[in-house]
Amino acid sequence: MTDFAAPGPVQFTDAAVTVVGARVVGLSASAALLARGARVTLVDRYDDETTAARAAQAAAQGAVLRLGDDETLPAGTELLVVSPGLPPGAPIVVAAREAGVPIWGDAELAWRLRAPLADGSYAPWLVVTGTNGKSTTVRMAEAMLKEAGKNVAACGNIGYPVLDAVLRGQVGGEAGEPFEVLVIELSSYQLHWSSTLSALAAVVLNLAPDHLDWHGSYADYTTAKGRAYENCQVAAIYNAADLETVRLVEEAEVVEGCRAIGFTLGAPGLSMLGVVDGILADRAFVADRRNSAAELGTVYDVEPHAPHNVANALAAAALVRAYGVEPSAVRDGLRAFRPEPHRIAWVATIDGVDFVDDSKATNPHAASASIGAYEHVVWLAGGLAKGADFDDLVERHAKRLRGAVLFGAERHLVADALRRHAPEVPVTDLGGPGTEQAPQVMASAVREARRMAMSGDTVLLAPACASMDMFTSYGERGDVFAAAVRELKAELAAGE
Ligand code: ADP
Repeated sequence: MTDFAAPGPVQFTDAAVTVVGARVVGLSASAALLARGARVTLVDRYDDETTAARAAQAAAQGAVLRLGDDETLPAGTELLVVSPGLPPGAPIVVAAREAGVPIWGDAELAWRLRAPLADGSYAPWLVVTGTNGKSTTVRMAEAMLKEAGKNVAACGNIGYPVLDAVLRGQVGGEAGEPFEVLVIELSSYQLHWSSTLSALAAVVLNLAPDHLDWHGSYADYTTAKGRAYENCQVAAIYNAADLETVRLVEEAEVVEGCRAIGFTLGAPGLSMLGVVDGILADRAFVADRRNSAAELGTVYDVEPHAPHNVANALAAAALVRAYGVEPSAVRDGLRAFRPEPHRIAWVATIDGVDFVDDSKATNPHAASASIGAYEHVVWLAGGLAKGADFDDLVERHAKRLRGAVLFGAERHLVADALRRHAPEVPVTDLGGPGTEQAPQVMASAVREARRMAMSGDTVLLAPACASMDMFTSYGERGDVFAAAVRELKAELAAGE
């Protein structure tokens, strides 16, 4: 029998593997395992038409289906593969743990399924995690690697499963040239279920409470994030402004010779990347780093060049420099990079007031970074708090807030923090209705914010909360905001 608990490549022939979740990741996992001779049981909580249709694909490839029950562990299971998001306390997980059955997430499975490239080497993994800035950092690193001429995949939690990226060009995977290097965004969920993966370089960008409802405690959340550094080979990259990330590097078991590399918005110390007179400077990956630094571009090459985004750029630079990318490719990558939508995206200017969509700020730490990038803000906030609290955020930025407009299910938590720490800031509460009224609520929010704002201010949608109480996603929330702003602008223009 295969020992799935031992590290390294494994043989799946005839192994009884249970895959939980008949969605994108579960289906890829199932296909890959079947192609390697495993006996796969695919389980899903639901037994509706959509699930059955999805699962049919796996059944056609030879999987045994068990729909409508994702709680009991099928008899004889030797390995349990879980989809991201399955909580650690799920009954099937508890059953597996009690039975001594190893549990892998999709990232762990992908790691075990890597195949050598034509030259016998394996595509290195550059891993990005943290509470905020992950997708941006991954995309920046991807842009730098492209400029360096690499065949790179940006994958993981950003829409292209890491398993699919690893399997490309392999049996059971999509057709195409295998990738030379992977930049991978891993969520705390995926890291929780990973045990042996060994990144060439990894960064934990920052840490603040998020997803505590899933992990149970902040300590468990940070432990999961810290796994990114385990077995790291060349560079364990920390944020010098976030001591928690420093602690995680110190505690990690890394490969002999792996270096701790910091990034900072100030002047870089030895083995750090930082900023000197607006220049992005590398004192980590240059031969004479005691006396010199490599120039990687300037802060004006970073768009938008808000401080937290410059930090993301430095983190991305550290990852690719660890892999050997030249400084000029770092700079060209930053210049080529375009931010994804809903991340501090300017929508319109009305009477000297900028309207900015940062709908992706789905927790207080993210909202704090974006509010901090402006002098005076009318803040649009509220939604699902996911167990977070808003005291620090409001206390830190009380002076910047011209006003606040609140909506969504847990807006009272934001309102309470405002009452406690910024009692002089005017607050309008628009209620928290169902999805149908969401566009009207947003339209009122935009109008109310315009009324509060003065010329030169920024109206900022940075809700510090998840969106699913009123919208299908943060993307929809941002789109509805932008539409409301444009409508207001058109209305005002027509009235002139
Ligand atoms: P993630 O993938 O981690 O959710 P994104 O790159 O999509 O991160 O950015 C999400 C939001 O987090 C941004 O819209 C911004 O508000 C905030 N943000 C981005 N980078 C940082 C950072 N380094 N520190 C704090 N907040 C950040």
